[in-house]
Amino acid sequence: MQQRPRGKELAEEVIRRLLAEYGRPETTLDDRDDPWRLLVAAILAAQCTDERVNKITPALWARFPEMKDLAEAAPQEIEPYIRSCGLFRNKAKNIHAAACHILREHGGEVPSDIDSLLEVPGVGRKIANLLLGDAFGKQAVVVDTHCGRLARRIGLSKAKSPAKVEKDLMRAVPESSWTLWGHLMVTHGREVCMARSPNCQACVLEDICLEGRKLLRREARETAKKRAAESEEAGA
Ligand code: SF4
Repeated sequence: MQQRPRGKELAEEVIRRLLAEYGRPETTLDDRDDPWRLLVAAILAAQCTDERVNKITPALWARFPEMKDLAEAAPQEIEPYIRSCGLFRNKAKNIHAAACHILREHGGEVPSDIDSLLEVPGVGRKIANLLLGDAFGKQAVVVDTHCGRLARRIGLSKAKSPAKVEKDLMRAVPESSWTLWGHLMVTHGREVCMARSPNCQACVLEDICLEGRKLLRREARETAKKRAAESEEAGA
């Protein structure tokens, strides 16, 4: 088996192969053209699918079209519109508090730097980086559940904490591809490298992925055993 690329070389090869496979995927949240709406959609997407968020946001925007509408509303008024995406009480509180904070501290403009974004209620590194990359056109690595899992399986990070995975990926992935990386990981994580049962046999990364190569080695051992048993039988 050929030597596996590591670090930057590995990250570049992963990008090259996944780009050939998927093109340039974008976020699957519909509200990607407006920073405020994207921020709210990202809060709603915690432990919920983007598909469900896309289903509920049209009614939310119809009732609360502007940031000030969500700042003026009590969280209890927001809850019925977001109930089906889970953790709705907490999300309603955060959306209301985020609207109040951005109006008070930033004159109603969603800030475009990481430190200010991290001060917005309900915004952690994942949402902050999503906004930097998708709303403000900056380069940022979004480490969600797919990105973290794939980084460990491919062999670009051993870390469990998203902040450490982000650092490892920022070292390995070329800066010009940080935002793209997150989208490629989400797409590949949904299509092929699923959490419970990665489909390594169908994966274009199998020969360069740490986990994929373990599988290849196991298969090679099993084939060798089978052949040995067959030739023993034939000689008997
Ligand atoms: S080879 Fe398997 S573990 Fe590695 S990225 Fe592909 S599906 Fe995931």
